[in-house]
Amino acid sequence: MKRDHVAIVGGGFSGTLLAVNLLRHDGPRATLIERRDHTARGVAYSAAHPDHLLNVRAENMSALPDEPEHFVRWLEEHRPGVGGFVPRLVYGDYLDHLLTETSARAPGRLKVVRGEVEDVAVAAGGVHLSLRDGTRLNADSAVLAPGNLPPITPGGIDPATLPEGSYVTDPWHGDILGDLAPDDTLLVLGTGLTMVDIALLLDARGFEGKVAALSRHGLVPRAHARGVPATKRSERPQPTASAMIAALRERAAQVDWRAAVDELRPYTQGLWRAMDVAERQRFLRHLRPWWDVHRHRLAPSVAKTIEAMRTEDRLTILAGKVTDAQPDGDHVRLTYRPRHEDGERALRVRRIVNGTGPQGDLTATREPLLVALRDRGLLRADPLRIGIDVDQESRAIAADGASSDRLTVIGPMTRGAFWEIVAVPDIRRQAWSVARRLSNAQWVEGEGL
Ligand SMILES: Cc1cc2nc3c(=O)[nH]c(=O)nc-3n(C[C@H](O)[C@H](O)[C@H](O)COP(=O)(O)OP(=O)(O)OC[C@H]3O[C@@H](n4cnc5c(N)ncnc54)[C@H](O)[C@@H]3O)c2cc1C
Repeated sequence: MKRDHVAIVGGGFSGTLLAVNLLRHDGPRATLIERRDHTARGVAYSAAHPDHLLNVRAENMSALPDEPEHFVRWLEEHRPGVGGFVPRLVYGDYLDHLLTETSARAPGRLKVVRGEVEDVAVAAGGVHLSLRDGTRLNADSAVLAPGNLPPITPGGIDPATLPEGSYVTDPWHGDILGDLAPDDTLLVLGTGLTMVDIALLLDARGFEGKVAALSRHGLVPRAHARGVPATKRSERPQPTASAMIAALRERAAQVDWRAAVDELRPYTQGLWRAMDVAERQRFLRHLRPWWDVHRHRLAPSVAKTIEAMRTEDRLTILAGKVTDAQPDGDHVRLTYRPRHEDGERALRVRRIVNGTGPQGDLTATREPLLVALRDRGLLRADPLRIGIDVDQESRAIAADGASSDRLTVIGPMTRGAFWEIVAVPDIRRQAWSVARRLSNAQWVEGEGL
């Protein structure tokens, strides 16, 4: 199949890394299409405050899997003295610089287009993209790197009935801080990493009121610890949710629990692949909340701030399920059922921010491009409805079950196939492999990553 030109839809971390690797592997020329006014940074590394730190140490954050020291070297050269858990904004600068520099070394091979892709038609000879502004673009194949879907409003809340400004649907695109008084309470739905970002932001801006955070289990991400030596497992546990827990418990009794979680990482994608759908469902239902808080941890300084806010009673973590939200003047009266209790409790809050985190259900999305491709059967939801169905080479699987040679999907929306595909160390590897496949370079060197 001729592949001289690849169109990449979405210029966040995943799309940018694909473009960079196509250029590095002397692959097809690329057009990177991004609807926002900046490329490379995506959501994670642009909508951040200087206090928002990476939750992975700099040594593990190289964008290039075949150059593990790349980010650390960049820091030494461009931000001397900065290391450890680096501000996310600095990481955005790194990605920006990487794209600009790689592109300058391969003149004429990368084009960046501002605009929103609304449809991709797949024909025998290639793909035809339609942009919202009427632009048409042809390529030999398309790679979708759309990022996560926005959070879904939990049942029991109808934002249309609530006072203006009292409900923020998407923390990355809404006004969280406006018009808050010192005696106000702000409620975050969710107690994970997004909640931590919101709490840090409120703390940094000097919000004097109270923050409450509510999730089903009330679990908060754990902290990284300094000086925990990395350990290695000799074999992969059995691919069942219960065997994984047993293996983790056993190892956590021998080494630090963080090391026990981290040493599973090289096996996680293989374990997921080996589980059938029922077992994966069991994992999501029973283990996911615990897995998430132990696996995706906080930088020690961030954990310290969160702990201080809790001790000073400025942040309260609640476990329970929202049952209702009603207007109460310019406030909201939110009712929830506490976990393991029969009755209900109510909170009067000035604002609710949906911090339940990224979503992936393709059947529920309103993204025009994804709706169009889903409705025409070119994309389908994975069996767990946590993303877009792809095969092990990240090729989109159509409604009829066939893998597409023209349509590839990368990034967190492929979590149904890979599970561990939300953080930089996994996405950089996926982008690298896909770029090599599209460049017909997968059989040449560099296989020992
Ligand atoms: C707040 C936050 C903090 C994180 N922190 C870390 C961390 O510290 N360490 C770590 O390893 N990982 C972290 N991650 C995870 C990981 O780095 C991100 O999930 C990753 O950056 C995903 O990048 P992406 O390009 O797939 O998605 P995004 O960054 O969301 O980019 C997708 C892009 O596609 C564009 N787009 C979508 N549809 C279209 C369309 N139809 N037409 C044109 N453009 C389109 C969007 O505008 C967007 O810019 C974090 C994630 C988040 C959300």
